[in-house]
Amino acid sequence: MTGSMLPMAAEPVPCVEERCPAPCCDLHEVPLLDADIERLVGATSLPAESFVEASDGWRLLRGAGVADDGCVFKGDVGDGKGCTVHKARPAACRTYPLVLADDGHARRDEHCPHTHAFVAPPEIGADLRALQARLESERGRRVEETAR
Ligand code: SF4
Ligand code: SF4
Repeated sequence: MTGSMLPMAAEPVPCVEERCPAPCCDLHEVPLLDADIERLVGATSLPAESFVEASDGWRLLRGAGVADDGCVFKGDVGDGKGCTVHKARPAACRTYPLVLADDGHARRDEHCPHTHAFVAPPEIGADLRALQARLESERGRRVEETAR
């Protein structure tokens, strides 16, 4: 992974400042790295099976991207809704609302109502490409292992 892979702006980020109800955690599938799963198991003491969905070699965060459901880790934070595993959240959540466009560059996801309030570091495009490559490599390894 190149660059920081850290949130786009110093805390507090717009999510907190704007008291956003985190629609992003309902709308988007979140692919997981093996390292994300390991970190979340360590942070929550939950078995991986309780928050990971396996799909065609991918590992996806359970509930995220399912409109009526939402990420299993979205819950009550302060007096609103937010991420209950913020410090251990997956790499894909750390880079959002900057996402990889089809042309390989970073773009702002317009589903985030405050997308233009995030500061994008200069290396974000490289970070997103590296993350995508790592996710695809891990998926490829799992598919190969299943085929053996
Ligand atoms: S990333 Fe955007 S949609 Fe998600 S919680 Fe933050 S401000 Fe809201
Ligand atoms: S891990 Fe946290 S930031 Fe990521 S989708 Fe779930 S609730 Fe949202």
